[in-house]
Amino acid sequence: MLNFSFTEEQDYFRKMLKEFAKEELLPQYTKWDREGVTPRHLWKKLGELGVNGLRIPAEFGGSGADCVTTGIAAEEIGRGDFNLTYAVMLNALIGEIITKHATEELRQEWLPRIASGERIVGIAITEPSAGTDAGGIKTTAFHKGSVYVLNGEKSGISVATAGDAFIIFAKTDTNLGNRGISAFIVPRDLPGVECTGYEDMGNIPIGRGSIYLNDVEVPEENLIGLENQGFAQVMNGFDLSRLLIGLQCVGAAFQSLDETIEHVKVRQSFGKPLAVYQGVSFPIVTHYTHLEMVKWQAYRGLWLRDHGLQHSKESASVKWLGPKYSQEAIHECLLLNGHYAYTKEMPLEQRLRDVIGLEIGDGTAQANQMVIAKDIIGKEFRSY
Ligand SMILES: Cc1cc2nc3c(=O)[nH]c(=O)nc-3n(C[C@H](O)[C@H](O)[C@H](O)COP(=O)(O)OP(=O)(O)OC[C@H]3O[C@@H](n4cnc5c(N)ncnc54)[C@H](O)[C@@H]3O)c2cc1C
Repeated sequence: MLNFSFTEEQDYFRKMLKEFAKEELLPQYTKWDREGVTPRHLWKKLGELGVNGLRIPAEFGGSGADCVTTGIAAEEIGRGDFNLTYAVMLNALIGEIITKHATEELRQEWLPRIASGERIVGIAITEPSAGTDAGGIKTTAFHKGSVYVLNGEKSGISVATAGDAFIIFAKTDTNLGNRGISAFIVPRDLPGVECTGYEDMGNIPIGRGSIYLNDVEVPEENLIGLENQGFAQVMNGFDLSRLLIGLQCVGAAFQSLDETIEHVKVRQSFGKPLAVYQGVSFPIVTHYTHLEMVKWQAYRGLWLRDHGLQHSKESASVKWLGPKYSQEAIHECLLLNGHYAYTKEMPLEQRLRDVIGLEIGDGTAQANQMVIAKDIIGKEFRSY
C-alpha cells in the first residue's frame, strides 16, 4: 500500500510547531544573527516542546518519536529560525548515537540533559587537512591506564563556541585507516580542550569554530561504541542528519516563497500586480516544484529509515539538492522583493547566507554524489 499521509498526531505536531515558529521564532530570527549570540533559552524552549528529544527514548527524557516526525520538526522550525534547526538535527543525530552505542552511564548522564535543552552537544569530525576525506583525520587517542589521551585539532565545528561537550572522532590505531577511528564524548571543561569561534558568512548563532585538544585525558568509559569501529558505527547517523538538513533548508525556502507570493500579489508595476507577469510567477512555480520534490524525497528517506530499509542514496540526494534548491529559491525571492530585500531590514539576505552553509556542512554536493555513485554504479568504481 502506498500512503503519503501523515498521522493525526504528526499533523497536530506540525500545526503546533508552525504556530510556534510564526509567533515566537520568525519575529526574532534576525536578532541572534545581529547580536552574534546562540539563543540557549530557545534550545531549552525546544526541549519543553519535545523537539530535542524526538530520537531519545522516553526512559531517558525523550519521546522516542519516529524519523518522519523528526523531519516535520526540521521543516517547521526551519520556517521560523533556520539556525535553531541545528538543535533538531544535532540532537537527533547525537541522541541516536548515544542511545545506540554509548554505555548506560553515559546515556543517563547526557540524554536527559540533551532532551531538555540544558546541554548543547556538537559532533567533531572535520580537521584542517581532512573534510570530505573524513577517514584521513589526524587527531589521535591513545589508551593510557584508565584514560584515552587526545591530541589534535577539529575545525569547522558547529556549536564550537556554545557546546558543553562534543562527540570527537580520533584515530585509536594509526595502522588501520578508517577502521582505526573511535568516537568519544568529550566535555568541554576537561583540561586541554580549547574552543575558538569563526567569523562566518552565515549561521552566526551556531558559533562554528575550532576545537584544540592538547593532551586531553578522557575517561575510558567515554568511548562510544567499540574501539576502532567508531567510524563505521556512527556514519549511519549521517543518513538521518542529511535528510533532516534537506527539510531544514526546504522549510526556510518555503517560508521565503510564501512571503514572496504575498509580496507579488500586492506590489504593482505598469499598473498591475507583479503576480500577473509570467516572468514573475514561473520562477516561483519552478522553485516551488523543486522544493516539493526534495521534500517528498526527504520524507520517503525518513520513512525508509523508520522501516529499517536502505536509504543512503536517498539521503545523499536530499542533502545534495535540498540546500542547493533552497538557496536558489531564496536568492530568487530576494530578487523578486526588489531592493528592500537587499537590506538587513528583511530576513531574506540572512536566510540566503544561512542556507548556503549547509551546502558544505555535513558533506558537499560532490561528497553526496559519491555516495549515490557507489550505490548505483558500484563500489568497485569508487575513487577513494
Ligand atoms: C555551516 C557548516 C557547519 C559545519 N558543521 C560541522 C560539524 O558540526 N562537525 C564537523 O565535523 N564538520 C562540520 N563542518 C565541516 C564540513 O563537514 C566540511 O567543511 C565538509 O565536509 C567539506 O570539507 P572541507 O571543507 O575540508 O572541504 P574539502 O574536503 O577540502 O573539499 C573542497 C572541495 O572539493 C570537493 N571535493 C573534495 N574531494 C572531492 C572528490 N574526491 N571529488 C570531487 N570533489 C571533491 C568538495 O566537494 C569541495 O567542493 C561544517 C561546515 C559548515 C560550512
